[in-house]
Amino acid sequence: MSNVRVCVRFRPLSHKERKANGDKVCFKKLDAESLVFKDERDEDVIFSFDKVFYDDAEQSDVYKFLAVPIVTDAVNGINGTIITYGQTGAGKTYSMEGPSILHCNEQKTGLVQRVVNDLFECLRTSASMATWTVNLSMVEIYLEKVRDLLDLSKDNLQIKESKSQGIYISGATEISIMNSSDALERLSEGIANRAVGETQMNLASSRSHCLYIFSVQHTSTPDERVRAGKIILVDLAGSEKVEKTGAEGRVLDEAKTINKSLSALGNVINALTTGKSNHVPYRDSKLTRILQDSLGGSSRASLLCCCSPSALNSPESLSTLRFGTRTKLIKTVPKPIPVEAESSKKPTPQHSHDQDNPSDGA
Ligand code: ADP
Ligand code: MG
Repeated sequence: MSNVRVCVRFRPLSHKERKANGDKVCFKKLDAESLVFKDERDEDVIFSFDKVFYDDAEQSDVYKFLAVPIVTDAVNGINGTIITYGQTGAGKTYSMEGPSILHCNEQKTGLVQRVVNDLFECLRTSASMATWTVNLSMVEIYLEKVRDLLDLSKDNLQIKESKSQGIYISGATEISIMNSSDALERLSEGIANRAVGETQMNLASSRSHCLYIFSVQHTSTPDERVRAGKIILVDLAGSEKVEKTGAEGRVLDEAKTINKSLSALGNVINALTTGKSNHVPYRDSKLTRILQDSLGGSSRASLLCCCSPSALNSPESLSTLRFGTRTKLIKTVPKPIPVEAESSKKPTPQHSHDQDNPSDGA
């Protein structure tokens, strides 16, 4: 079985969509894995995924299918990533954070809160885990610059690689967190710092990729073996085409940069999918460089392709479904990355590891 899960989620029709176009939807449900969609030539195409979530899906259904295996594996030293993709307004942030990271009922709670809760639950209840640390970083990639959302004075962080750490963001604030309420408080501060712009499609649409990074390290008993894994959750910027947003000036620059990094993500996925290329172009964007050891290789990944159900947005939804289809073909074997015993004795690093085989990021 492939360790990449690709799912599609159609959110409910919005009030605005109903008003403009009635209840007309752009797809026909086949079953829990497949749907029919009309392409640009008005021909029916069947799309199949690991799962399709329709408007009756609960946040917990999405979490169970996409994230539970990733959380379990991260605790055992396997990196994982969960990405939400789709046009602005398609439900990426709702799936990730729910209506609010701090104040929402259990039913609406998003992937991030559920990951955090289960992560601590897992670490606390496992008898074999003697000691553990969880560190949180939060960055956004805006106009190809990596900004620290936990310290806005750091607005151009570099991506580096070391033997013991793998890929890491040099100098990014890392906060040691002890429990989930602690984590959610810090995350809400980071979320408030996200760059948002105004486009015709969504008044507060996010124009940046937002990355929540949890690094987990634990020592198991009785062999004292150290395992380190990380979970990266990525709320991507909107995938819509520039023309549709009527963008100009800075907004146009933002849209072009977003398109470029999303196509870099597509190219990396393609290279991993086809297996034809020896060279996977991770360095073509900051996003793909940061995800290098969490996407492909020995890690686990889940992609949630978020779509508007309205016929008004069919071209964008079609493009999202095609992106998901290309991703579905990645084949990797999840395996833990051993960490040298040394590193467990050092305090968890707060800052850069430039001495460790520095290499410039993308
Ligand atoms: P994106 O992050 O992709 O731009 P949002 O997550 O902000 O889009 O969603 C746009 C709007 O749709 C928000 O008002 C959000 O609350 C609502 N929404 C998205 N997904 C769902 C869902 N599954 N159920 C209910 N409302 C949703
Ligand atoms: Mg959003």
